[in-house]
Amino acid sequence: MKDINVINYLNKSGIEIPEYINLSAVSLPSLENKSTEIKNIKNKKKHADMKFTFSNPDYSGLGDKFKWAKSCIIVSYNYGENYKTNIASSLGNGSIARFAIEDYYLPIKHFIDQLKLHFDKLNLKTQEFIDSPNHYDRLFFQKSGLGWQGKSSMMLAPGIGPWQLIGNLYVEKEFKPFDEKTYSCGTCNLCQISCPTGALDNEYQIDSTKCISYWLQSPKIIPHEMRIKIANRFYGCDDCLLSCPPGQNKFINLKSSNEVDLNEIINMDNENLISKFSWFYVPKRNADYLKRNAIIALANNPRSDSYKLFERLLDASSEIIRLYSVWALWRVDKLNTINKNNFYKSENSKEVLSEFERLIK
Ligand code: SF4
Ligand code: SF4
Repeated sequence: MKDINVINYLNKSGIEIPEYINLSAVSLPSLENKSTEIKNIKNKKKHADMKFTFSNPDYSGLGDKFKWAKSCIIVSYNYGENYKTNIASSLGNGSIARFAIEDYYLPIKHFIDQLKLHFDKLNLKTQEFIDSPNHYDRLFFQKSGLGWQGKSSMMLAPGIGPWQLIGNLYVEKEFKPFDEKTYSCGTCNLCQISCPTGALDNEYQIDSTKCISYWLQSPKIIPHEMRIKIANRFYGCDDCLLSCPPGQNKFINLKSSNEVDLNEIINMDNENLISKFSWFYVPKRNADYLKRNAIIALANNPRSDSYKLFERLLDASSEIIRLYSVWALWRVDKLNTINKNNFYKSENSKEVLSEFERLIK
């Protein structure tokens, strides 16, 4: 019977809803289908070869995935409450975007596990999707009444703005649905104006090929103009989120803890580095890509002696590290200090050599 909404149902069942978790549910079948939308982005190459939900849009974008499912519970976690926003960095430091400071999917996982256990005991089927390539997690967000899609392409909620992650749980149980709301961005376009790369020039769509967050997770060679725009970002970019009025709060200050010492990152053992940031998306789990990010960020925000580190890295065993160190030396205006004879004798990578030749001109 659809006589009770999911929040009242959980209260009645003695399941506590943790702070910072918001909940809603939609009835199924929903007829929601975002497959065409996802395919359109893919066809226009705006997904920048990202796999994730783009691998199989027919399935990931489909709302009614299971015949047995009578509703889908939407769980959102507001990670923005606890953290301060950093608007000034010391020389040699790199920044981590707010969404990546911790593994914010964990609270959603813990809560959904609790719900699954409850429904298991009642012999009711469930299927969860949390940060999964098989499910577009925003599918039901608007319909559930939790919020709306912003021009930044993020899902926004009143009082929270874009600072949330979303998980979905299909359940073989009906709940009274919540009303869909009429929230919208109105005439605001601050995210579009704030994006340093023009990745949001078309509202409601992100052009991943221009997005700093995407490039910091990509194994491809990062274009030179993008390396400059990365500034001192070590992982992620959240300029479009910071500018969003519904997400602004009192926690903005000059200094905060979401910074890393880039020297330390570059000098870390690869295994330790990967485990230190185990929740980051890193291509092939290869820590050299994190060191690449750190080299770019350090070259854009160097200490007076950072060039010595870049010089030393020309002898690194990793081609990725050597390539970006050549660029880093160019960026801090020390490329001419490279001994050309020694460099040509010892460097055997075509990519590194051509990077050097392009920059030395
Ligand atoms: S994450 Fe940064 S680069 Fe990407 S769209 Fe937002 S502001 Fe632009
Ligand atoms: S900055 Fe303005 S336009 Fe962009 S998502 Fe937020 S409310 Fe919408």
